[in-house]
Amino acid sequence: MAVVFGTSSKGKVTVVYRNFEYVKERDNHCGTTSWRCQKYQSMQCKARLITSGNHIVSNRQPGEHTHSGNVATALARKAVGEMKTKMNEMNATSSSSHASVVATLDNDVLMALPKRKTLARTLQRARLKAATAAAGGTPLSPVTSDLQFAIQVVLYL
Ligand SMILES: [Zn+2]
Repeated sequence: MAVVFGTSSKGKVTVVYRNFEYVKERDNHCGTTSWRCQKYQSMQCKARLITSGNHIVSNRQPGEHTHSGNVATALARKAVGEMKTKMNEMNATSSSSHASVVATLDNDVLMALPKRKTLARTLQRARLKAATAAAGGTPLSPVTSDLQFAIQVVLYL
């Protein structure tokens, strides 16, 4: 039985399973992960899960939660997290930077480029640096600085 991973309001990894949310308790030596019900404190709930990868290997005390399950908020939180990521991707011009740089490169260089996602992350870090530099009193046109950083990153590789 596969599980869905989410994020708690405190930014911790959670597991969503059968309408209940679990927070991580510990990584076990054998490679599995122990989780306890998110309401283990507030409701003294003792329900637990053990997962390996994204599969349940043990579901102790199934159906013995001391409370009813409602993962709507957990799932909403997860959706928002995904939307934020999408928004960042849309706002970031790393894709267009990537495209404009790639258009000028030889095939050999293209082969040596890291995976597109890795590059996009690198470019976004570079953008942050650029923004910091700009805040320090060196205003740069966003498009120009993006392209400059993209080229620098490519040369560095
Ligand atoms: Zn519970």
